[in-house]
Amino acid sequence: MSETIFAPSSGAGRAGVSVLRISGSQASTALQSLTGQLPPTPRRATLAALHDPDSGELLDRGLVLWFPGPASFTGEDVVELHLHGGRAVVSSVLDALGRLPDCVPAEPGAFTRRAFDAGKLDLAEVEGLADLITAETAAQRRQALRQLDGGLSKRIEQWQARLARQLAHLEATIDFPDEELPTDLEMAALNDISSIRSEMRQDLGSADIGERLREGLEIAILGPPNAGKSSLLNSLAKREVAIVAETAGTTRDVVEVRLDLQGYPVTLADTAGLRGAQSEALDPVEAEGIRRSLERAQSADFKLLVFDATLRPELDILSLADANTLICWNKVDLAEVDPPTIANHTALPLSAMTGKGLPELIDALSNAVVQRFSEVGSEPVLTRARHRRAIEEASAALDRVATQSLPELSAEDLRIALRALGRVVGRVDVEDLLDVIFREFCIGK
Ligand code: GDP
Repeated sequence: MSETIFAPSSGAGRAGVSVLRISGSQASTALQSLTGQLPPTPRRATLAALHDPDSGELLDRGLVLWFPGPASFTGEDVVELHLHGGRAVVSSVLDALGRLPDCVPAEPGAFTRRAFDAGKLDLAEVEGLADLITAETAAQRRQALRQLDGGLSKRIEQWQARLARQLAHLEATIDFPDEELPTDLEMAALNDISSIRSEMRQDLGSADIGERLREGLEIAILGPPNAGKSSLLNSLAKREVAIVAETAGTTRDVVEVRLDLQGYPVTLADTAGLRGAQSEALDPVEAEGIRRSLERAQSADFKLLVFDATLRPELDILSLADANTLICWNKVDLAEVDPPTIANHTALPLSAMTGKGLPELIDALSNAVVQRFSEVGSEPVLTRARHRRAIEEASAALDRVATQSLPELSAEDLRIALRALGRVVGRVDVEDLLDVIFREFCIGK
């Protein structure tokens, strides 16, 4: 019998209400120790006074919810205490629970682990739940909710059911070669497998966007020292994150902020100032800073190239501009000249100091980001590299099925595909799936 676990489920710190969760066979005993009463009606909020079971001291008055297993989040008996959200209140109740037999503080993720073990959530849904809790923008929330609601799991299960069916037929022809099986079976099986393969390919096509949505697109701010990169980052983030300094080359490491652009997450990175080849010798620290900036520029989804409007742009820095670059012509408050067209890009006139041009820059960036995320047309179902690798493996195995010389080898490929799919949802029981299918067959009984 596993221990009963308890933990605060709401965030740390002062709050109006804090929710504490208890899960396990001792949940109702723990509740009785605190309230002196039997658990209330299931799933009904009930007011109760909570006392220290040893001293009898009143700890708090709060709402109690009772979810008897298996109809609970973890599948076990669960109690939820809605306490006043003061630190002392919460810690006194946690302390009292810790003194009860077989009750231990929960490890991170322990409630969800139990929900998974009880079959309440599969692995893809667990990931959806984790993503929902960390979602920072609307698009991330939508994607996480879809996955938590089984969007990915249902897709996987449908593929598994279809493949298991084909595998069962194939095994039947191997095991019972004398049985009369429909002759068009093989054609139908290959057709279905090929349509699963194309469905997989379509999902793989949007996997990159799914992963980017979880992690955020990367935008690197690049340019010569003193062009106003840190100032721009600060204006964009509307908070002080990078040091704005008068001396050249002070931003030596990469400073990042997370932004929400039209519901989509982006990570904006300020980089060390770049110096053109014609500049005087660099010290090693600055050279390292520049190396990191260029590395960042390569991996970024978009680049903001910032230039000082009062100076001539250095050509080798300009050469970094590509199709995913916006050129910012900064400090226009000092130089009221029309921004030039450089490297086929119209530079955006900007003043990080006065805020002029900032709304236009944010619009341009948002449009680019929205366009990138809507490129694939459909809503991505694969959201992690883990999913992508599993589907790639399954799809590669299905590619081989049709070309195998022996049905035994095709069957083995189907098993490989099924196992790869099983890994996505955390259940790799190919034999169980087959049992279900074979029962419909009745061959040889
Ligand atoms: P970085 O090295 O590219 O990150 O440049 P900073 O953001 O540190 O800015 C360098 C200097 O330029 C600082 O003194 C800023 O106050 C100043 N600066 C930045 N943007 C503007 C601007 O739009 N107008 C004016 N007049 N000064 C600016």
